[in-house]
Amino acid sequence: MKFTLVGTGTLVPDADRGSAGFLVQDGKTSLLVDGGSGTLQRLARSGFDARRLDGGVYSHRHLDHCGDLPALLFTLHFSFDLPRTRDYPIWAGQGFSALIRGLGTAWGRQLVAEHYATPVFELPLDGSGRAELPGGLVLDTLPANHEEGALHLRFTSPSGASVVFSGDTGPSENLVMLARGADLLVCECALPEGHPYSMHLSPSQVAAIVDAARPAAVRLTHFYPGTDPEAALSLVSSTGVPSQRGYDGELIVIGE
Ligand SMILES: [Zn+2]
Ligand SMILES: [Zn+2]
Repeated sequence: MKFTLVGTGTLVPDADRGSAGFLVQDGKTSLLVDGGSGTLQRLARSGFDARRLDGGVYSHRHLDHCGDLPALLFTLHFSFDLPRTRDYPIWAGQGFSALIRGLGTAWGRQLVAEHYATPVFELPLDGSGRAELPGGLVLDTLPANHEEGALHLRFTSPSGASVVFSGDTGPSENLVMLARGADLLVCECALPEGHPYSMHLSPSQVAAIVDAARPAAVRLTHFYPGTDPEAALSLVSSTGVPSQRGYDGELIVIGE
């Protein structure tokens, strides 16, 4: 399985780090995971044409994670040189279908194709969820400690390789459970210690999760200004779990 960090930034404009976006690839299957503004362009920079996606998985409905969705649906719909004939399925927490319906209301025929569909498969916000994805990949989810239908996501390939994405979250036993034994944990590290907003993680809270879950490797992402990435990395690395700060365009090969 290949996992590309397409965007490792936040909602803050940053020349080097786009809003949250990731690409999961296994065999011939390619799935987008989140996609804030600029994700289509950053995918292209990584050498991947978004029109070849088999579907999308969204951690939640904040715009730094799904802002490029209307642009993506428009692109799929009107690519005359590469017309789409198959559905574009989406997996996300409960409430996401309403978002898709709202986009259809706002943009109409710009986003709603006649010759294929955009089915939404909603996962529960009150317990564990599981979905079979294209290519034999399996998605397991647990609710995150955040807003807008937020989930933690775990992707498992047919060969058993696994990647967990925290999505946005505050301290979360669910994340510890889901990340246990994973080959890779991609974890947000948004806020400095003591910040009053409780639905993101500080470096010490990330370190506690990593220490409890013991994944094989960690990539830190989603730093807001004011959070020191180097200090965070040294704290998380003190758990003994190999950890790095991810960067846009980073390709991580797992289990091959
Ligand atoms: Zn969020
Ligand atoms: Zn976010």
